[in-house]
Amino acid sequence: MVISKDTSSIIPPRYRGRFAPSPTGLLHAGSLLAATASYLDARAQSGEWLLRIEDLDPPREMPGATDGILRTLAAFGFEWDGEVVLQSRRHALYAAALADLQARHLAYGCACTRKEIADTSRPGVDGPVYPGTCRDGVAVGRIARAIRVRVEGVETIQYLDAIQGMQSQNLADQVGDFVLRRADGFYAYQLAVVVDDAEQGITHVVRGADLIDSTPRQIHLQRCLSYPSLQYAHVPVLVNANGEKLSKQTLAPALDPADAGRQLWAAMQALGLSPPPALLNEKLADIWQWAIQNWQIDRVPSSRVLRAEQLDHRLSH
Ligand code: GLU
Repeated sequence: MVISKDTSSIIPPRYRGRFAPSPTGLLHAGSLLAATASYLDARAQSGEWLLRIEDLDPPREMPGATDGILRTLAAFGFEWDGEVVLQSRRHALYAAALADLQARHLAYGCACTRKEIADTSRPGVDGPVYPGTCRDGVAVGRIARAIRVRVEGVETIQYLDAIQGMQSQNLADQVGDFVLRRADGFYAYQLAVVVDDAEQGITHVVRGADLIDSTPRQIHLQRCLSYPSLQYAHVPVLVNANGEKLSKQTLAPALDPADAGRQLWAAMQALGLSPPPALLNEKLADIWQWAIQNWQIDRVPSSRVLRAEQLDHRLSH
């Protein structure tokens, strides 16, 4: 078992951030943007920065990706605090949180298939809004496969995102009762991320804006589980010329450690900093030192996406 730093101290940390990549592929320029923003925000506030590998979904994982991610982060000069935490070793924590929610009737078993849901629901912010078919028990002869959390009657969730501004979402209208454990038996991202952020004593989450619509689900779970609330900041996601998020599927090139300084410099620019061109000739440690001293989260563009080609353009001029 990978043991994280002791988070049970009586005085909570002032700032503890994290980067939590899924090992579905190697890091690309979009991952670098999110990692850089979360690292700079933590270090500029003398905070801690933890690394957590979200290896919850083996069918989607790429062999060797975890090692590749760790090596790339180290080669880019990221320094994390404590041991790297692997979600694959933490199923007992997720099971306990789920059992707690079920015991309090906040979560329930669901027998619906994807097709049944598609046929009976309307679209929401992230797929169909579950119509609540199994909320009062599964029909006779059906077997519960997934586990969902209830959101009916939950008031509209609002929070102030440090980059994107005020956010609000009504879970019942826009999401529906959502899955905590999938029909294939794997724990859902929403549950694991909430349990881990609380268990690791995370105070600040800085991550890609592709996850911004998940945040109200996570706040709801934190409230159900009586966990502390967190500060959130969502950085723009890099998209290609077709407006698609950079990813393995869209063939985004993996980060090249041989070119770390230039890629970091471009990421810093994209995050609203104005790194002097002379920094490009400096050592990584000096680039980081400059960025930590000059970091201002309110200079990060408050858009949900950024065109990756603009980054390339800045680099080549
Ligand atoms: N594992 C998620 C991803 O790679 C990020 C989770 C998070 O930062 O909350 O997209």
